[in-house]
This record gives sequence, C-alpha cells and structure tokens, in this order.
Amino acid sequence: MTQQEILDLFIETGALLEGHFLLTSGKHSNKYFQCAKVLQYPEYAGKLGEIISVFFKHYDIDTVIAPAVGGIVVGQEVARQLNKKSIFAERVNGKLTLRRGFEINGGEKVLVCEDVVTTGGSVFEVMEVVKNSGGEVVGVGMIVDRSNGKVDFGVPQISALQTEVVTYEPEECPLCKEGIPAVKPGSRGLT
Ligand code: ZN
Repeated sequence: MTQQEILDLFIETGALLEGHFLLTSGKHSNKYFQCAKVLQYPEYAGKLGEIISVFFKHYDIDTVIAPAVGGIVVGQEVARQLNKKSIFAERVNGKLTLRRGFEINGGEKVLVCEDVVTTGGSVFEVMEVVKNSGGEVVGVGMIVDRSNGKVDFGVPQISALQTEVVTYEPEECPLCKEGIPAVKPGSRGLT
C-alpha cells in the first residue's frame, strides 16, 4: 500500500479527525489520529499490521508486547501474523506494568508495537518494562508515526504511515484565537 492509500483508508474510516484538539503533550492541533477507527475493521488491521510483520519477518522474535489500550490490537495482529506470543503492559497508578500473569523471561526477544507515536513516551516505557524483566527489545512497529521519523527508539523501527501533524503552543494556537473550543481525545490515563 502507498502512503496515500493508507491515508485514504484513515480518512474513509474516520480515523483522521479534523477540528481543534488538546494533545497529551499539552499542545494544540487541528488534526488527530483516532487509530481505533481504522483498526476496528479486521481487514484493515490485517493490512496495516502486515507492513510491520513483513518488516520483522526475518528477525528473531519470541514475543510481541504493546502498551494498553491503543497498542493491544496492533500487537495482537502482528503477533498473529508472525505466529508469536502476544502480551501487553497496562497502567497501574500511571505506570506501565505487566499484569494478568504475563511475564518476560531473561533473554526473551521482544518486538514492541503501538498504534500512534508522537513523542514515543509509552513505547520507551514499554521498552524499559522489557529490559527490567531481562528481555531484549529487537524492534518497534507503529501504525502511525506522527513524528515523521524523528523519534528514534535506537532499534530497528517501522511505521505504516509517517506524517507530521502541525501542533501549536496553546498561547500561539490560531484555533484558540478564533474561539473554537478544544477537545481532549485519546485514551491515555484509562486503565
Ligand atoms: Zn488551541
């Protein structure tokens, strides 16, 4: 799939929202990726996940891990295609943690998957969870890289869609100046 075809898929499914958004970073933007809207269709989750699984096909991977909630569908789909174990980390008191009996053994080779990356905060945190458990992070797969490749995880990484969304400091935001109310989308903070 070309970048334009992928972008069209996001627009068609309502996964690329336009409006006035308050981002987790505190900045404002006129665009927001609600990745779940495209991933709710298994066919599209499969096609987008394939970009990640094809890239990592020849890597030595034992396990795929994702940060909850947004990353879970991506991790599960990529793990299914690679026929590997799929686990996720979830926030307990704000900190990403392995629960539900999930564990990573010493030397386990782990691929981290996420839906949307802006600053990479959750991915870096999951990478720490893996390392602290004695595992080895072999790569990172994302559906949308909003940093347009600027976030570097220090391991092989691939994203289905690279894009740069224009963001504004609240005091400089032209949408605020027009008096349009800002909305806070997304799922971070949910448990
Ligand atoms: Zn604003």
